[in-house]
Amino acid sequence: IPAIHTQALSKIYDNGRGCRNITLTVGQGEAFGFLGPNGAGKSTFVKTLVGLVAASGGSGSLLGHPIDSLEARKHIGYLPELYRYPEWLSGEEVMKFHAGLLGIKGGEAKRRIRERLDEVGIGKRGSDRVKQYSKGMQQRLGLACALLGDPKLLFLDEPSSAMDPVGRREVRELLLELKKRGTTLFLNSHLMEDVETVCDRMSLMLNGDMIRSGSVEDVLKTK
Ligand code: ADP
Ligand code: ADP
Repeated sequence: IPAIHTQALSKIYDNGRGCRNITLTVGQGEAFGFLGPNGAGKSTFVKTLVGLVAASGGSGSLLGHPIDSLEARKHIGYLPELYRYPEWLSGEEVMKFHAGLLGIKGGEAKRRIRERLDEVGIGKRGSDRVKQYSKGMQQRLGLACALLGDPKLLFLDEPSSAMDPVGRREVRELLLELKKRGTTLFLNSHLMEDVETVCDRMSLMLNGDMIRSGSVEDVLKTK
């Protein structure tokens, strides 16, 4: 069963923008990237896959389950672009809330929160309020939240956009580590280096269309 399969999937907003006719298959354990400028439709596609917006046409499945089913959502993690957290909460409290949503409680929640915060490199700052976090740290917190449920399939929307070069490198290394453990990754980025470092296959996105797809080497070489 493929991790992601879509057939002519479209999401067109009232203003005619969005993403159009996206057909792709991503195997389990694979890392797939969408590379394109702002407004290309990358976020829209991922929001459609994770069930945040309803498709306008076509179909899609995650691990064999239709994209609008609860079953599909059980196995996915999602890092939205620049997610805003309530500033008055600590990083740990934000994670506790997310753990609760997943039904993870008590000692198990505590253990996982600790592990994930360490994993994304903000383990020492867990009790600080989000207000005191830089954008890069907030992005790391988002990644820690996305990893709470040990997802088989992880969607990342511009995971390193708010970070400095060191942070970007660390996020790429973390993603490679997750890939090694068998997590399927779907990565949106406007940074070629993100896609080049992390992904096996990719598509170039422009104005809502997938304009070229293939192995990262082939697509970037013929660009
Ligand atoms: P990307 O993630 O590649 O930056 P998006 O998917 O965010 O691209 O946006 C694709 C296009 O759809 C853009 O022109 C954007 O302005 C438009 N768009 C995004 N969200 C909405 C919305 N909720 N309503 C109308 N247009 C939207
Ligand atoms: P993203 O790239 O993550 O979609 P954007 O800056 O494009 O972020 O959008 C921020 C929010 O505004 C999103 O919820 C998006 O759906 C919405 N949005 C973006 N473009 C438009 C638009 N042209 N009309 C209405 N809503 C929009």
